[in-house]
Amino acid sequence: MEKPDMELIKDGKRLDGRRPDELREIKIEVGVLKRATGSAYVEWGKNKVLAAVYGPRELHPKFLRNPTKAVLRCIYNLAPFSVEDRKRPGPDRRSVEISKVSAEALSSVVMLERYPNAGIDVYIEILQADAGTRCVGLTAASVALADAGIPMKDIVAACAAGKISGEIVLDLMKEEDNYGESDLPIAVMSRKKDVVLLQMDGKLTREEFKKAYELAVNGATQVYEIQKAALLKSVNDVKIEG
Ligand code: UDP
Repeated sequence: MEKPDMELIKDGKRLDGRRPDELREIKIEVGVLKRATGSAYVEWGKNKVLAAVYGPRELHPKFLRNPTKAVLRCIYNLAPFSVEDRKRPGPDRRSVEISKVSAEALSSVVMLERYPNAGIDVYIEILQADAGTRCVGLTAASVALADAGIPMKDIVAACAAGKISGEIVLDLMKEEDNYGESDLPIAVMSRKKDVVLLQMDGKLTREEFKKAYELAVNGATQVYEIQKAALLKSVNDVKIEG
């Protein structure tokens, strides 16, 4: 389908007033759910996302068990009321894909070999969506895993960059995602900068890809600082209470 021509950036400013290399505002709250082993709530621009972790616990059905390591499962769910045109409830192609790539990204940092035969379930609930939800979901899930006290080699931080009206920009919002030329969501291990997720919508030249990739890694580094601050705050709050 042809996209309508829309000027998404003018005099170096985007529709929401951001500079090309600017993130939307991000707020992270840790430990928001009493009955989950770990949880996090993230507001990222107009996105609102809840992540809950259960486990490590006995894995069912039994045939899924792995005697050498835990199995991390992920369910990404876009709530029917989270988007402009009501989404039909339940899984679809898109949510199955995002669940799969998210589970793979998180499995590369979680020390699964510590929990043979066990299961770790990660739920990502998108309550309000405004583009970039897979990045928000992964960022929230990673904090929820840390809140659950599950040992990890590193924390996963995610961010997208893309191309709008011919320019490479960081962290696309809905209008930019809809009418822009390309979107490149990535997730990295925060300290090592190893890439654990990389997807791309649309087209970029080699040069543009390089620029967008570097911008997205830089964005993920900023996201990591916010994750770290939220986790430190939650640990300090517990100390004060207790
Ligand atoms: N979206 C929607 N209905 C859907 C799926 C997506 O309105 O059934 C919107 C939603 O705001 C989402 C955006 O389209 O954030 C971009 O979706 P995409 O598949 O690119 O994934 P995301 O950028 O959220 O990771």
